[in-house]
Amino acid sequence: HAKADISHSYCYFDKQMEEQVSHRLAMIRRLREDFADGKLEVWYQPQVDLATAQPYGCEALLRWPIGQGQFISPAVFVPLAEDAGMIIEIGQWVLEQACAKQRELAQHGVDMQISVNVSVPQFKASDYAQSVAQTLARFAVPSDKIELEITESVVMDEVEQVTRTLNELKSYGIDVAIDDFGTGFCSLSYLHKLPFDRLKIDRAFVKGIPEQDNGEIAELVVSLANRMNLRVIAEGIETEQQLQFLKSIGCHEGQGYYYAQPLDGKKLDTYLKLSN
Ligand code: C2E
Ligand code: MG
Ligand code: MG
Ligand code: MG
Repeated sequence: HAKADISHSYCYFDKQMEEQVSHRLAMIRRLREDFADGKLEVWYQPQVDLATAQPYGCEALLRWPIGQGQFISPAVFVPLAEDAGMIIEIGQWVLEQACAKQRELAQHGVDMQISVNVSVPQFKASDYAQSVAQTLARFAVPSDKIELEITESVVMDEVEQVTRTLNELKSYGIDVAIDDFGTGFCSLSYLHKLPFDRLKIDRAFVKGIPEQDNGEIAELVVSLANRMNLRVIAEGIETEQQLQFLKSIGCHEGQGYYYAQPLDGKKLDTYLKLSN
């Protein structure tokens, strides 16, 4: 009797797995179609100088609209795109969109540095630095006007190749930030060895301030960055109290809903008060 129960539960488990797998495959298929049909979008979240509240840049964030104002989160579909071997192509498209936007804003007299998120497979491609430099040149975007955001998992992946790519990017004058700093497993010693320009304090170290979190980690990251002459930006600022705290510890840059949500290209123009 017991045996029958077990096989029954295995059967059920298999069926569930099968459904999950086919759901994944269906999503990948739809992502491929929607990307080919030009349905993906790039939105922009302003990054501001905390002292003046003036925007000086923005982060490009992928959006996958699925109708009725609904979106699938990039936290869900970027990993799918990575597994399906699509992220190199999608990532290149995001970079091109960001370059076009940077250029368009510059032509309206608005000088913005745009940050672009980069996945491991993109960064690992042997000609990555050169291809970024070529893309910037093609759009006539100065190399210091696009910043690449990589996570600690990129650094840990293949240290030698990553070091080479970082140095090459540096030689082209392209900035690189470590995203979600403090949430991965990057050894601090890499901060000395590798030419990063900026640390991004993860939202996890901002969101509990002041009630659940005294901000010790945010403070540590800011003082580390300041000592090492790295720029530092706080993610996920949602309240006046968080802003005041970050200013008090010497953090000069931030982004978060307190200032602005990610905005589509048109809303960004409005936010920046662009007269067409
Ligand atoms: P991330 O790079 O750490 O981006 C910051 C995320 O925090 C964004 O989520 C942004 O919308 C959200 N955020 C910003 N301010 C606040 C705030 O005040 N409160 C809260 N609750 N959230 C805030 P989003 O757009 O859903 O993106 C999630 C992740 O997906 C990104 O995290 C990034 O890792 C990845 N991603 C997005 N676009 C791209 C892309 O073009 N390429 C790659 N490889 N990854 C991307
Ligand atoms: Mg980012
Ligand atoms: Mg981040
Ligand atoms: Mg984050």
